[in-house]
Amino acid sequence: MKQKASILVVEDEQKIRTALLDFLEFHGFKVAEAVDGLEAERIVAKKQFDLILLDLMLPKISGEQLCTRWRRDGLQTPIIMLTAKGQENEKVDGLNIGADDYITKPFSLEELLARMNAVLRRTDPARAVGQSFEFADLEVDIPALKVRREGKEIEITKREAAIIQYFAANPNRVISREELYKEVWEETMTELGTRTMDMHIAKLRGKIEMNSGEPQIIKTVRGAGYKYET
Ligand code: CA
Repeated sequence: MKQKASILVVEDEQKIRTALLDFLEFHGFKVAEAVDGLEAERIVAKKQFDLILLDLMLPKISGEQLCTRWRRDGLQTPIIMLTAKGQENEKVDGLNIGADDYITKPFSLEELLARMNAVLRRTDPARAVGQSFEFADLEVDIPALKVRREGKEIEITKREAAIIQYFAANPNRVISREELYKEVWEETMTELGTRTMDMHIAKLRGKIEMNSGEPQIIKTVRGAGYKYET
């Protein structure tokens, strides 16, 4: 089961706020709201969220100031800034002050949802795919550290599970070896790291591919990295 991601909506315009809350609830998110910068700051000090939607122009403390403060204080929650047309400069600043993405009003809710999912996937692949999911012709069970194919169980390591989760959360996209190393090992790539990763991929392929000499699930993209196609 996919966990519900919790979202804080910081927006002073009631109409927009209500529309966002309804839409996000409908899509299965847990939502909280703040009507100005001060309230947002109070709420974030007490509770952790998976994502913050932050309006740029807010009473009391602006979205820009808030974002700067939060990042300065080490808050790592992903933030998507909501900006209005004509605030082009602020948009760029939004990313400079540590927002993960921005979207310009008026925006379509579907586009916002796509951006949110992209940010959530990037920041937490486990949330994007959940704890049990299908991966090619395999059933993956993360808590049990097992994959199953036609009733046959294969044990996987925690690291292999993390690799599978990352590919499952990022299908149909070439993932460079640097990216995979950074996301799964949470370290910057080194020569030793490259070898470690190659060994893990080879071992994982030996477990999940029908023919590890010709991998069909985690494919090699020559000179670019790996790809999981759905
Ligand atoms: Ca506003």
